[in-house]
Amino acid sequence: MIRHHPADTTLVAYAAGTLAPLHGRVVAVHLTQCAACRAVMAVGEELGGAVLDTMAPVALGADALAHTLARLDLAAPESAQETTAMTLEALTRGGRWRRVGPGVRLMKLVPRDATGTRLDLVRVSPGTALPRHDHRGAEMTCLLKGAFADKLGEYHMGDLEEGDVGLDHEPRALDGEECICIIATTGYLRAHGLFTRMLQPLFGI
Ligand SMILES: [Zn+2]
Repeated sequence: MIRHHPADTTLVAYAAGTLAPLHGRVVAVHLTQCAACRAVMAVGEELGGAVLDTMAPVALGADALAHTLARLDLAAPESAQETTAMTLEALTRGGRWRRVGPGVRLMKLVPRDATGTRLDLVRVSPGTALPRHDHRGAEMTCLLKGAFADKLGEYHMGDLEEGDVGLDHEPRALDGEECICIIATTGYLRAHGLFTRMLQPLFGI
């Protein structure tokens, strides 16, 4: 059962296309597994349509179409096909796991974009902790397999964790099953401890 969902403000931003696109990809993975959030999205879309119906038409500026097209270009909505293809099997097809530390492997999905965000899969052996680190940007994580715990809670398949700037944590995969997450990371992580700092150039995160 899914216990951790995106904040309402995150869902609204996702629906409006204003969420950073790679963070949106992680929300999309959660939505494929979470009927509750899909229902919230459906209500939001209905409400949005109802509000639009009650609004008096206004004359558009000469550049309105160009502005709208430019925005669509910036935050193209995921197609239904793309969203349903975001299973673990589809995401890992053709990719390569790289060992980045004891019990930790990384598969790069999308390199850093214009917002300074990158998208990766991280695969952690049972019982292994990631080195403690803190964040200089937002982080969005969704569980594709297994479970992990940090000071914010315990996360299982389908759960979504939103980490804000300043989050300082040491996520640990629970015993029994390897843990695979899809993670959108904005900005660079700040590592604690020499071992982690040595790894950082390899991590590139
Ligand atoms: Zn949800």
